[in-house]
Amino acid sequence: MDPKTLINILVEISELEQLQLRASEQMNHNEELKFSLEELQAEYEADAAKAARDNEGTKVTVRSLENEIRQVSELLKVKNDLLVGLIDNRQVRAIKEEISSLKMRLDRLEDDTIELLNKQDKLKTEARESVGESISHGKKTKDRQEAMVRDSAELGRKNDNIKGEIKRLVGMLPSVEGRAVQQLMKKLDQAVVHHQDGACLGCFNQMPRQQAIVVDQGREVVRCPSCRRFLVHKSWN
Ligand SMILES: [Zn+2]
Repeated sequence: MDPKTLINILVEISELEQLQLRASEQMNHNEELKFSLEELQAEYEADAAKAARDNEGTKVTVRSLENEIRQVSELLKVKNDLLVGLIDNRQVRAIKEEISSLKMRLDRLEDDTIELLNKQDKLKTEARESVGESISHGKKTKDRQEAMVRDSAELGRKNDNIKGEIKRLVGMLPSVEGRAVQQLMKKLDQAVVHHQDGACLGCFNQMPRQQAIVVDQGREVVRCPSCRRFLVHKSWN
């Protein structure tokens, strides 16, 4: 096989390897995105659960305040009843003082309850919104994840085809180069790479200037002195 034909096959292999690499990267990216979407969804759900808990907590406090109001009101009624028919001035004063402090207590309790009821309205709205956000994000997450699964499956099929095509091209190479390419493929992500300003794009080591020129001319088969990958020019197509 003349070097030019051999190099052309290597160029094709290098193009396919790059496509394969990009597809794999996209698949990894999909996986990562899927994971971070799941994490985000868990945060939304935790927020919704916390909002629900806060809402429940206020409900309990409001109930206990209402109980206390009832008790104080009953006590107030009892004291007021006691006042009727009482003639001893000292006793009347004492009861009146009690009544006045009970009224103050009742006022405070009612203020606290109103404040809490306002807060409860806010918390209820927050809890409802939080659940809404969690559900809506959950739906979006599911849709995006399904799209990514489809995309990855498609990329997987594409990579299978590329793999088959690479295998076919490797089979066309003379046995020495064919075996070398196969061995490189076992160990490395790419067996055939380009160079950039004389730096091998497989291992990023600099090669002699003259060697880079030979690669660009495409007349001789060149291997990187450091990583032994085959070095080829970019496709001329
Ligand atoms: Zn190299």
